[in-house]
Amino acid sequence: MNNFSNLNDTFTLNNGYKIPCLGFGTWQTPDGDTAVNAVIEAVNLGYRHIDTAAAYKNEKSIGKAIKESNINRKELFITSKVWNKDRGYKTTLEAFDKTINDLQLDYLDLYLIHWPASENQFKDWDNINLETWRAMTELYKSGKIKSIGVSNFMPHHLKSLMNTEIKPMVNQIEFHAGFMQEETFKYCNDNNIVIEAWSPLGTGKMLDNNILKEIAKKYNKSAAQICIKWCLQNNTLPLPKSVTPSRIKENTEIFDFVISEDDMKTINSMPYFGGSGLHPDKVDF
Ligand code: NDP
Repeated sequence: MNNFSNLNDTFTLNNGYKIPCLGFGTWQTPDGDTAVNAVIEAVNLGYRHIDTAAAYKNEKSIGKAIKESNINRKELFITSKVWNKDRGYKTTLEAFDKTINDLQLDYLDLYLIHWPASENQFKDWDNINLETWRAMTELYKSGKIKSIGVSNFMPHHLKSLMNTEIKPMVNQIEFHAGFMQEETFKYCNDNNIVIEAWSPLGTGKMLDNNILKEIAKKYNKSAAQICIKWCLQNNTLPLPKSVTPSRIKENTEIFDFVISEDDMKTINSMPYFGGSGLHPDKVDF
């Protein structure tokens, strides 16, 4: 088990680059003051890893918050993602330029393909993913991105990418109690790809669950803190999102306890509930 003791402890990616073990999620964080204030709050509380995407339409505000926070750029870890309509070689390069301009940054720490092109939408889905990856690889080699990866890729989407010059370093997938994506989880672990856990709180839907609440009580913690710690103890990197200062703080207070093996087993064997229901091969976006 990883022995993380604070927000600045890191996972090491397969290229040696370090990524802080807790990321700050920003999906559904409205652009404007809400996003600026949430990110500034998070950075002031010690978060150094921010997760955004072109599709979240808040990159400009996140860029503004990064500027206003006055933290040395090297201390921050910023992730963004290329959206589905921009898949392909040239369009990915263009999408990256827009992202980096909106964020007002010189480089990104991590850039991800947001969703795989899949066979329900494209005959040549594998080739589209490879073309997107070719652009990511070029940006990586030029130094404009320090690490590259994918999101929502299952093993059959990853297979071709594993035969290219630069292998994915991260796969960001939905991962929470009741939904551990065992096959993808195993594939990524076997291939030295760090798994980031999106919706670690099930977009809030985990938090009323009685089993999680009972376990939380034992440790004098909240269900949210159990969900986040559970991700780390499963060797995945959680990306909790909040725009509420007290919760942003609460979600960092996870380093002063360890979930017992028995409780881990209980959570690991919970049946499916509170998931997004989004399947990478079935989504229509
Ligand atoms: P989470 O699972 O992190 O849950 C966020 C929700 O829980 C919000 O409603 C938030 O409310 C609430 N919340 C947060 N902390 C607490 C707390 N301590 N107590 C009670 N309620 C709390 O949500 P997301 O689905 O947003 O996932 C997290 C991140 O993962 C995203 O923001 C994004 O960065 C990434 N993601 C990536 C995807 C992908 O396809 N790659 C897809 C989905 C997410 P409030 O904000 O009002 O405080």
